[in-house]
Amino acid sequence: MSIIRLNSFAEGRWFAGQGDGAILASAIDGTPVAEITSKGLEPGAMLAYARRKGGPALRALTFHQRANMLKALAQALNARKEELYALSYLTGATKADSWVDIDGGIGTLFVYASKAKRELPNETFLIDGAVENLSKSGSFLGQHVYVPREGVACQINAFNFPVWGMLEKLGPSLLAGLPVIAKPASATAWLAEKAARIIIESGVLPEGTFQFIAGSTGDLLEHLTSQDSVAFTGSLATSTTLQAHPNILKNAVPFTAERDSLNCSILGPDAAPGSAEFDLFVKEVAKEMCVKAGQKCTAIRRIIVPESRMEAVSAALAKRLAGVTIGDPRLETTRMGPLASLAQRADVRSQIARLAADCEVVSGDPDGRIAGAEDGAYLAPVLLTARNSRSAERPHDTEAFGPVATLLGYADLEDAIGIARKGDGSLAGSLITADTEVARQVIFGAGAFHGRMLVLNAECAAESTGHGSPMPHLVHGGPGRAGGGEELGGMRAVKHQMQRVAVQGSPAMLTALTKSYIKGAPEPETGEHPFRIPFDGLEPGMSFHSKERVVTLDDIEHFAHFTGDTFYAHMDEEAVKGHPFFPGRVAHGYLLLSFAAGLFVEPARGPVLANYGLDNLRFLKPVSPGEAIRVRLTVKSKSPRNEAYGEVRWDVEIMTGTGETAATYELLTMNAYREAA
Ligand code: NAP
Repeated sequence: MSIIRLNSFAEGRWFAGQGDGAILASAIDGTPVAEITSKGLEPGAMLAYARRKGGPALRALTFHQRANMLKALAQALNARKEELYALSYLTGATKADSWVDIDGGIGTLFVYASKAKRELPNETFLIDGAVENLSKSGSFLGQHVYVPREGVACQINAFNFPVWGMLEKLGPSLLAGLPVIAKPASATAWLAEKAARIIIESGVLPEGTFQFIAGSTGDLLEHLTSQDSVAFTGSLATSTTLQAHPNILKNAVPFTAERDSLNCSILGPDAAPGSAEFDLFVKEVAKEMCVKAGQKCTAIRRIIVPESRMEAVSAALAKRLAGVTIGDPRLETTRMGPLASLAQRADVRSQIARLAADCEVVSGDPDGRIAGAEDGAYLAPVLLTARNSRSAERPHDTEAFGPVATLLGYADLEDAIGIARKGDGSLAGSLITADTEVARQVIFGAGAFHGRMLVLNAECAAESTGHGSPMPHLVHGGPGRAGGGEELGGMRAVKHQMQRVAVQGSPAMLTALTKSYIKGAPEPETGEHPFRIPFDGLEPGMSFHSKERVVTLDDIEHFAHFTGDTFYAHMDEEAVKGHPFFPGRVAHGYLLLSFAAGLFVEPARGPVLANYGLDNLRFLKPVSPGEAIRVRLTVKSKSPRNEAYGEVRWDVEIMTGTGETAATYELLTMNAYREAA
């Protein structure tokens, strides 16, 4: 195979770098695969280009349009993923490892596309939380909104997941409206470069929204402003250096760090040898040590087990690890391939030597060779045990980024929690137990030190995604040593990359700005019932005010017997005496809702296709027999669903005859567009 000259993609064209580059070798046998250099690249010009071209193009799109773009990107990558698999083996990844990286990365884009369509409005900004009333009469209010930042998301990735690492950052940034400059770790950059080529060749992304640096970032950080951001994944040492860059500090450039993590897995005291949970634990720990040859930021590094079970766990793990087939990752029979490079193996060996100050090797030979594969970066799994679990420090401060983990014994649960917390902040922790009280103590005792925690037992094992798999729906990141960052986590990842602004003003002004009706804002004249207006014609504030209806005792009795809801507060004047809320018998809340529907409905067939629920229902004042009610129905906001119809959110207020608010809620309907109505 000829050596691939890796290119950067800058200012709309591929750039090969000047002069000789560093040679990158295959993890399998050390043969040269690629050459990399970014010499001659101008990061400052790349940033300016992204700000000039990519940013405005993305910000002009709504969240739904950006989501459609992500979906198309995922489809384009999916269609060409075999090209990625072919290059992935050379990084040492088996087919299963590559699946996590490649299909996992593409899947993350798909999830983001579909969640964004469902959970974000078809707008370019987001409303955050409820309106805050800041005045006596309600004429001055506050509303938080998220708006896109006007900079560039600079994303620096680790070597272990060249595709997933790039895509999991790219998706949320593009959704947030930020153009991206992605920089993969050099060691496995040939795979990331191929993914970048597929992205560019797909033509899906607007010009200037995606650039790629193969090699050093040069003086990139010098040019960052407060509108830009850095999302870094890699070692603690590099992250600390970058985060302390004077320009990052001076401009308060948002910096997210995902770095190393001494993740733990705890065996519950209830999980005795022979139990389903004990077997699950051994399987999960061994799997985490071997997937991606342990080069996973979430891999289990600290195995915390009851002292009385140390021998049993150690023997079971050693047996299982001895059965792992190590070899050429291209072979179907191989369970674990080599590390990503010889340099990486040398680093892992030096970390094992450091761990040896407090630990002994239980199984695996750190210096062992795999027969017939001497030129590859192979390393058999190494299981260590702490000589003294109480005083050992190394397992809590040393990350051997390979198939290496240390056993630590605990006396009781408090001790186990204390050991877990000594990791000083982890990405992922797991607890294997069937005992809910054990789980309660561990999760709330160690939760503050983790980004994600898995409670695994026989009930969920078959469908569990496992200790080490970050899910796009859930937070990835962790406090302290893990970097203090937060990526993924569904739409949280999008919001993290937007600017939250507290906007203050009148109801009319805030309604106009947010396109979401706030009580007190003007109600545009319609001349007809808003139920008769198709989706495209509706505007926030359009209202219908019903006539009054008196709620009688007969109505209450009838409703009670008809539905079976004969709760005493509706039926028994004597029983309700002295009640803290009710002056006497009162109408059912559901009766009020039903009457409200009867008061505001426009019964003839029209644009309203269906009522599909209500949100935020509150009964605020009881209605007594003989009292009148009336309803205000106002368009709050709307969000298209497809070409035929969209969702309308209605602000509904049920008032008493004297104008007091008896109930409020938001009604949701699906409404047809004009052509479809
Ligand atoms: P690394 O050596 O710190 O490198 C990480 C990235 O930083 C690479 O892209 C590297 O580029 C770049 N970099 C290094 N020096 C730089 C500088 N001065 N300016 C700009 N960029 C610079 O880490 P790694 O060896 O690739 O990754 C292994 C580590 O990452 C482990 O500690 C692991 O736990 C951690 N990790 C964490 C997560 C997570 O989500 N928390 C995920 C995966 C890995 P070059 O390669 O070109 O030097």
